[in-house]
Amino acid sequence: MPMIPYGRQDISQADIDAVVEVMRSDFLTQGPTVPAFEKAVATYCGTQHAVAVNSATSALHIACLALGVGKGDIVWTTPITFVASANCALYCGAVVDFVDIDPSTYNLSVECLAEKLAIAEKRGSLPKVLIPVHLCGQSCDMESIHALSQQYGFKIIEDASHAIGGRYKGEPVGNCRYSDITVFSFHPVKIITTGEGGMALTNDPELASRMQRYRSHGITSTPDEMVARPDNEIWNYQQITLGYNYRMTDIHAALGISQMQRIDEFVSKRHAIAERYNELLAGLPLTTPWQHPYGYSGWHLYVIRLKLDEIRKTHKDVYESLRKQGIGVNLHYIPVYRQPFYEKMGFKVGYCAEAEQYFQEVVSIPVYPGLTIELQGQVVEAIRKALEI
Ligand SMILES: *Cc1c(COP(=O)(O)O)cnc(C)c1O
Repeated sequence: MPMIPYGRQDISQADIDAVVEVMRSDFLTQGPTVPAFEKAVATYCGTQHAVAVNSATSALHIACLALGVGKGDIVWTTPITFVASANCALYCGAVVDFVDIDPSTYNLSVECLAEKLAIAEKRGSLPKVLIPVHLCGQSCDMESIHALSQQYGFKIIEDASHAIGGRYKGEPVGNCRYSDITVFSFHPVKIITTGEGGMALTNDPELASRMQRYRSHGITSTPDEMVARPDNEIWNYQQITLGYNYRMTDIHAALGISQMQRIDEFVSKRHAIAERYNELLAGLPLTTPWQHPYGYSGWHLYVIRLKLDEIRKTHKDVYESLRKQGIGVNLHYIPVYRQPFYEKMGFKVGYCAEAEQYFQEVVSIPVYPGLTIELQGQVVEAIRKALEI
């Protein structure tokens, strides 16, 4: 029997047809489909500008560059995230630091952030950019984080890789009301997919045009942005900064546009699955995910937290038992600074106590639109068995 994965894509015939149509068209890349996808996402989120790229990792990189992150700068994020949320700062030559998590939402703790900022201000080591991550699809408390950014003068990049289709205080995640830039991922386990892909959204036209340049070699073909050259020479484009090739193809964008048609359906299916888990898992020695009333999650992940003092099994026993029973559970996440690469930079075990406690107790169980009631039943049975209940 194949493993039930923790996440997977949902591809329809319409998705396939949309991709095939582009493959038969004049442009496989740099055609009209990428801007159309950008427009679809920007319109959905209520944001002015969107820059599609080949991954969220690339989007985080160009977002940092556009905000001027460089050598000598400091970037803060949460330790409970994928490594890409921190690596983007290192690409720019900046230093990364971590703010511990909230014990109920598992997002970056606003209280810890406020304390850490007060200390950093005294030491003259305030961050240039903060990257809050909407873990599992649940938005961080952006209004409070934004208020701190005004007080201390840092910029905000929301890593919303888990959260497209979610809402915060009644508005779509990604509208950048409380941030400078928001980043989405379109990896197949995320809410919508383009295979690989990502996008950076902003309401600031200057940040948008910088990100467009970083996406494509640092080149511009807008006359206003070009340096003056002799009139008799042909300058139809200029490289004005050092950029990359982070472009999304029109083939990928076609899949993205088609997936956007079903985004609300995907998210409501994820909600139905989460609600069913909440019922089926009630009474077991574990904590189901707590939801802050201000939000509507994208439900990218459903994370259970084991009450290890109430069971005779270890975290590892439960994880391995579930894998053996064909449940493709995962762990989101190992605290980033515990990675060997980060430990080499000097981070020590115990740096963020809440994050480490979380890491030792959590398991992500399957959640994706195609997860049937029957498969969900199998997952819950396997959990009971793993806990020996
Ligand atoms: C998936 C993910 C990324 C990276 O996304 P890619 O599109 O695979 O580059 C970054 N941050 C978080 C929180 C993620 O979950």
